[in-house]
Amino acid sequence: MVGHARFVWNKALRLNLDRLEQGLPIVWYDDLCGLLRLWKQSEEYGFLAEANAQSLQQKLRDLDRAFTDAFDSAQPMKRLPRFKKRGVGGSFRLPQDVKVENRRVFLPKIGWVGFFKSREVPGTIKNATVTREANGWYVSIQTEAEIPEPNLHIGPAIGVDRGVAVFAATSDGELVDPVNSYAKSMERLARLQRKLARQRKGSRNRAKTRARIARLHQSIRRQRADFLHKVSTRWSKSHALIVLEDLRIGNMTRSARGTVESPGSRIAQKSGLNRAILDQGWDELGRMLGYKLRERGGHRLLVPPQQSSQECSECGHVAPENRTSRDVFRCVACGHTEHADVNAAKVILARGTAARAA
Ligand SMILES: [Zn+2]
Repeated sequence: MVGHARFVWNKALRLNLDRLEQGLPIVWYDDLCGLLRLWKQSEEYGFLAEANAQSLQQKLRDLDRAFTDAFDSAQPMKRLPRFKKRGVGGSFRLPQDVKVENRRVFLPKIGWVGFFKSREVPGTIKNATVTREANGWYVSIQTEAEIPEPNLHIGPAIGVDRGVAVFAATSDGELVDPVNSYAKSMERLARLQRKLARQRKGSRNRAKTRARIARLHQSIRRQRADFLHKVSTRWSKSHALIVLEDLRIGNMTRSARGTVESPGSRIAQKSGLNRAILDQGWDELGRMLGYKLRERGGHRLLVPPQQSSQECSECGHVAPENRTSRDVFRCVACGHTEHADVNAAKVILARGTAARAA
């Protein structure tokens, strides 16, 4: 099922990339489903009929979404979808007829499968996604349930500045270290990848190294998720209003804060910064804060990011000269001096408070 889903994704992606190259419009979901029906009837791709039909359609839906996101100017960080590789990884989603009974799950076309039930499944099952990870198969189940309105969250407000050197700074003065689990594991990863490159293709040792790399990637992902959950849970419990910068608006050259640079280096920095952002999961943190606050009756508020790093949180004076170095903010008008990211977090909080009062 995973292989067939990947095949359908790659085939439809290839078709659309070729069309883009020829200046033709993309083929969207409904027409892709029509093509899928033709493929299944053909001799060459008839094997696709072995898989659950809906799981293949869901892959096409995902592809449709990926193209929509890539062309959405409000999501500057999204890129064109990429081909899925064989090997470890891969997933498929079953949009109906999934059942859970004690410690087994019913997956259409596969049947009842025993599983380790990590938690109760409340509400009505909407769909299930089966994922292949480095150490086995996982199923995640989406459900729907009525949740009572939470009581109003009574707590203070904070602004959070999401940075590069410091992962996040709050208007309370808290500095959260960058997620360096990735950096720490990078060295190990690089070593394993060099080893892999030396090993003979198709050898058993190469397969072992590949499996170790996949497990390392999995562990990095989990450490990062764990870190983001801890920070977002703590803040959403202690604060009723959390103000963040709206990163969709752009302002991606923030590493250039207070420094002079050539246009050439800006491009290099931008790609480096994009990577850093993805590594550290800012989007993910914002998303987690959003739903965790909502569950607790609090609010997440996004404000425009423009010049938050050059504005004085005490007197409001805006000047690039306020930023004397990467870490230090010193207002040329009033002399206010503070950690640059904490000052920015205070500016963000003030913008949020002003927006709510308006
Ligand atoms: Zn000032």
